[in-house]
This record gives sequence, C-alpha cells and structure tokens, in this order.
Amino acid sequence: MKIICIGRNYAAHIAELNNERPDEPVVFTKPDTALLKNNEPFYYPEYTQDIHHEVELVLRIGKEGKYIEEQFALKYIEAIGLGIDFTARDLQSKAKEKGLPWALAKGFNGSAPVSEFMPVAEFADFKNIDFSLKINDKIKQEGNTSMMLYDFAYTISYISKFITLKTGDYIFTGTPEGVGPVKVGDRLQGFIGEKEMFDFEVK
Ligand code: MG
Repeated sequence: MKIICIGRNYAAHIAELNNERPDEPVVFTKPDTALLKNNEPFYYPEYTQDIHHEVELVLRIGKEGKYIEEQFALKYIEAIGLGIDFTARDLQSKAKEKGLPWALAKGFNGSAPVSEFMPVAEFADFKNIDFSLKINDKIKQEGNTSMMLYDFAYTISYISKFITLKTGDYIFTGTPEGVGPVKVGDRLQGFIGEKEMFDFEVK
C-alpha cells in the first residue's frame, strides 16, 4: 500500500499560500507509517511548531493499473473517504526556500489520518462532492470537487504514467482553502456532505 498526494489542486488554496498554479499535478508521497485509522489520536511531534490541517478527499484504488487512460480511470476507484494531509508548514517552508524535497514536512508519523471509506456507488456525481472540516465545532474548511484544477480521472491517469497504482493504494486529492494550524487538545471532525467521516483528537 502506498499513499500518493496531489498538492495545489484548488485555486483558492494556491492563492492563500502564494504558490504558483501548476501546469501539471504536483505529486508527492507519504510512507505507509503516515497512515492513521479508526479515529486514532494524532500525537503532535516535537520537531515542528506549525502543523497545518489540510482536509482532502481520498480515493482508494480497487485494481492495479499503469498508463491508465483518462476515459477508463474512474473504474479504478473502489471507494472514497476523507483524510487530513497534515503538513509541518515550518519544515515545508524551509524546504521550499532551498528547493529541497517535502518528504519530512509531509510524511512524518501520523501525517495521513483517513476515515472509513464509502463505496463509489454511493456518489451520484464525482464532480460535485461537498466535504468539510470542523475543529472544536467550528467550520474551518469547506470544499467541493467542482473546484479542483485536476479531477479524479485526470489525476489517476497522470499518476499512473509514472507510478503503477495497486489495489489498496490511497490518493489524497488536494485541499481547498482555509488551511491553518492545529494544537494539542483540538478535536477534528470531517464530513462528506452531511455524513461524519472522522472524529479524532490531537494529543
Ligand atoms: Mg495537501
């Protein structure tokens, strides 16, 4: 199992971090040790003082494929869930300044909490999925897949040219605007539409 993530996929989020709009999807990975499941708490590590939440829809891949054509790409999605791409923004900013990789800023232990997954049949339209994040009962991020620069089909097709997708792989599809810091004691609740997908604490 691997975790592949797309960065800079929502225009308003690109603007809030003063990033450039990419010509192709920005792709990075997290190790399997980043995964957190079953509402396990996230333990805030000591090597960063600025961990940000990025709520993202997560695709779970249902079959192996490479060089997947865009027109067939949606068939590779088995289920959709919600996750957080936790980012050590202080480490990431240092890496960006020096043109160095984001591996540690994005891939530390517990940096990829994911919810339970919903079968694709439960989604009427992949291009109109609402999702949101509440912290301590306040809405912090709201997104809709219609706002993505690169949709699910293009993303899968693009990644699979470089990296073979396998059953059980996860793809984090990018965050909308509203990212910000979390702190010890915060309660994070994520929703797809009205449905609560995860509810966990930062410890
Ligand atoms: Mg992200």
